[in-house]
Amino acid sequence: MSATFVGMPAFPTAAREALADSQLRHNLAHATGTIRAKRAKVVEEVPDWEELRLAGAALKERALLDLDAQLVRLEETLTANGATVHWARDAAEANAIVATIAKQHAAEEVVKVKSMVTQEIGLNEALAEEGIAAWETDLAELIVQLGDDLPSHILVPAIHRNRAEIREIFLRKMAAAGRPAPADLTDEPAVLAAAAREHLREKFLRAKVGISGANFAVAETGTLVVVESEGNGRMCLTLPEVLVSVVGIEKVVAQWDDLGPMLRLLPRSSTGERMNPYTSMWSGISPGDGPQEVHVVLLDNGRTRALADEVGRQALRCIRCSACLNVCPVYERTGGHAYGSVYPGPIGAILNPLLRGVGHDDQIDSLPYASSLCGACFEVCPVRIDIPSVLVDQRAQVVDAHRAVSWRSVPKPEAAAMKGAAYVLGRSRRLSLVERLTGLGVGLARRFGLTAWTGARDLPEAPAESFRAWWERTDGGRDASGNDAVDPAGPDEDLRKGDL
Ligand code: SF4
Repeated sequence: MSATFVGMPAFPTAAREALADSQLRHNLAHATGTIRAKRAKVVEEVPDWEELRLAGAALKERALLDLDAQLVRLEETLTANGATVHWARDAAEANAIVATIAKQHAAEEVVKVKSMVTQEIGLNEALAEEGIAAWETDLAELIVQLGDDLPSHILVPAIHRNRAEIREIFLRKMAAAGRPAPADLTDEPAVLAAAAREHLREKFLRAKVGISGANFAVAETGTLVVVESEGNGRMCLTLPEVLVSVVGIEKVVAQWDDLGPMLRLLPRSSTGERMNPYTSMWSGISPGDGPQEVHVVLLDNGRTRALADEVGRQALRCIRCSACLNVCPVYERTGGHAYGSVYPGPIGAILNPLLRGVGHDDQIDSLPYASSLCGACFEVCPVRIDIPSVLVDQRAQVVDAHRAVSWRSVPKPEAAAMKGAAYVLGRSRRLSLVERLTGLGVGLARRFGLTAWTGARDLPEAPAESFRAWWERTDGGRDASGNDAVDPAGPDEDLRKGDL
């Protein structure tokens, strides 16, 4: 399993469908515009914001460049704190570890903190196959789960839904999943939140096993950190007897003090808040307080592949704040589903190809092109990930990957065009022939019309004679007597003297 949704079309196809949905575009423009304005306001308040970004980028980069040592250290400190550490190479291994732990405790259901990495590995679906129900407890994740929907934003997974749609989902689906929504439910945000709270409360109190990810893992102290806004995470992390945290290996930071800059950067960049409402930290087991059995699954799932990419590895610094999504003109118009992944937007456009590699899946290969390269994502990124540079590098990788395929396979149009151009430019006779045919083609197009191409463009006037034909006819610009046929001081002088 992977970070991408199974069966999704390539980005251009999915984007075209999304663009046709005016309600979706309205919801997205409203939501991203609101978060964008909040972020800008609170970032402006911090005079040393740029220094903070530099510090955040540097400390994540240091940890990544020393990742092998930091992970071993993290395992040692976690183990010393009473946690059990598991290593998972891929999604299948991680899912099997979590399912085994749940079954050891005869758990038929688990409660979950919002976690990108468990979506990446398809944990809910894997647990369902083992007969274990996984309940999302974050409000937006609950909306997505009840609506049999897919997340479309890192921070606000149901950003594509408006209040009326959420009310309708609650009324229609809550009863089948537990406590039903009240019959007089309105679409007021506070009323919807209260219905979700009532629905979830019984699940929190009943569940034996809680599942989380982690925003940061401190190697020095063996501490995991989860930041969230609703308090549901705190309930999942403290009430169940058993806690299983699935943590991507890139989440490690070296020392406790590294949390300082990160916990200042993250809330302002993500929710536009000065401080995060709920920041939960736990270091293994505390007797008599919280879960008495703590497991940590350290997941690779393509991260070491990403680490080997010298340009792209900076994407592993990502702290999933979603600021890049909220400023992206492409994301704002297409929404997250078009990216076909739990990681949408600019970061998804580079992270998915990094985790899975390019050249074997059209959907993945289309993602580096899902950008105007305007650079807004880099400007807001709290850990200074230069997304446009990575996109350009990945476009080159995609082209190279298709250049490398065998001669039997059907080449991409771009590769075929380049091959054709190389063939034509390789001999002057071929170029001459193509020039004549092009002149003929433009003439025909002008005469009969090329509506698909010229509908929104002016077709340039074709010259009556090509430069090459003129050169041959005038013997390089000389008339029959051998004199210059053109003004030697004129603009063609350099061309006349130059080599063809
Ligand atoms: S790439 Fe940067 S801006 Fe985008 S989600 Fe990650 S940390 Fe945030």
